[in-house]
Amino acid sequence: MALQSVKGFKDILPPESERTAAFEALARGVLESFGFRELRLPVVEAQELFVKATGETTDIVEKEMFVLTDAGGRNLALRPEGTPGAVRAFLQHNLNLQGGRTKLYYIGSMFRAERPQAGRFREFEQIGAEAFGNGHPSADVETILALARILDGAGLKGRYTVHLNNLGCERPECRPAYRAKLLEFLRSVADTLCENCKRRLERNPLRALDCKGDGPKLKANPATPQLAPCAECHAHFETVKTLLPAGGLAFELDPNLVRGLDYYTRTVFELRSADVGSQDALAGGGRYDGLIKSMGGPDVPATGWALGVERVLMALKAAGSIAAPPHPEVYVAVQAESPELEKAAFTAMQSLRDFCRVEGALFGHSLKSQMREADRLGATFAVIFGPSEFSEGKCTVKDLRAKDQQSQTAIAELAKEIRSRLNA
Ligand code: AMP
Repeated sequence: MALQSVKGFKDILPPESERTAAFEALARGVLESFGFRELRLPVVEAQELFVKATGETTDIVEKEMFVLTDAGGRNLALRPEGTPGAVRAFLQHNLNLQGGRTKLYYIGSMFRAERPQAGRFREFEQIGAEAFGNGHPSADVETILALARILDGAGLKGRYTVHLNNLGCERPECRPAYRAKLLEFLRSVADTLCENCKRRLERNPLRALDCKGDGPKLKANPATPQLAPCAECHAHFETVKTLLPAGGLAFELDPNLVRGLDYYTRTVFELRSADVGSQDALAGGGRYDGLIKSMGGPDVPATGWALGVERVLMALKAAGSIAAPPHPEVYVAVQAESPELEKAAFTAMQSLRDFCRVEGALFGHSLKSQMREADRLGATFAVIFGPSEFSEGKCTVKDLRAKDQQSQTAIAELAKEIRSRLNA
């Protein structure tokens, strides 16, 4: 058999590639309207970056990273997520010294060696946004509103839910106190937990709460301790809850939402589709006020999210909100094999491409098969160069939506004629 793509890695063919590009363009527009600017990050980083930033006990780092060694023996990794690279770039280029806030977005492939299934790939695309330097809850809300606006603009308005939780901070009376209580409780029910949760119990007990198997049981158990956030974290979250509806976004409180990563503080959120199967998380993120400092930088607060492009496209398909792929507006055909007609057709195609999509030039084929192709491509107009009109400096324009409508136009006037018909 001919060579195949590697398991978990896929080709993106038209029209999916066009849908992807259209969605990216929409996201760029929305993010730029919120003041985010593009950051292009390398695909390869030092493995250590993800161990430090994403966290040693996370699934991503423990089990899912594609690691490689270069000729100099350096341990590298294909990026599994964008935030660590964004923080590294922020520090490496001293963006904090530029004063004020830094709002960045990125678009690109991420790599995780997960078991491939519907909605879960080993290479997938994320669009991410990171806002550095603003500790106020308004920054959490603004980034979430940008995310929702992208999904709404794509056609998913009302077709996803916003799950929100407060994870508190590292002050001793806040998350550490809760963590200790939770750990004690989980130890008491350890024999009912799955192998994964048992294994990471001591190092990261919070993860049991979002385990697919154990999470729901723990949620239903009235003895499961709840986080009692410190006064500052409480006030921060209250403001988030007030400002989100002011921005027109409804949410659900979800005390079991902990997200898979170590670095979150205070607000965490996930947007879930109502239309796709078990891989229903379209996007997720939160505040990570301690991360930049823990990576050797200044004490800069930050908040951000990442959205899975394939998941959004799947949700759009399931919701039936898929835009038709672009089709040529004009198809140019020749009625007979003739160098003169073919030259004239090429000249016309070039000038029409100044303002519309043009296909054609299937020279050496019958007019019938050229017209069949025009139909198959969904062209709006056909322009046909035939010998008798050509001798009078004319060509035929046919409206393919109204089969019998055709007229002759002076070749010199063709661009003007098509332009006015397209605008009609
Ligand atoms: P995460 O960085 O894990 O919070 O993921 C953010 C978003 O990326 C998720 O909500 C998904 O939409 C998407 N995503 C994560 N992992 C995968 C994957 N293996 N395949 C496809 N999309 C993914």
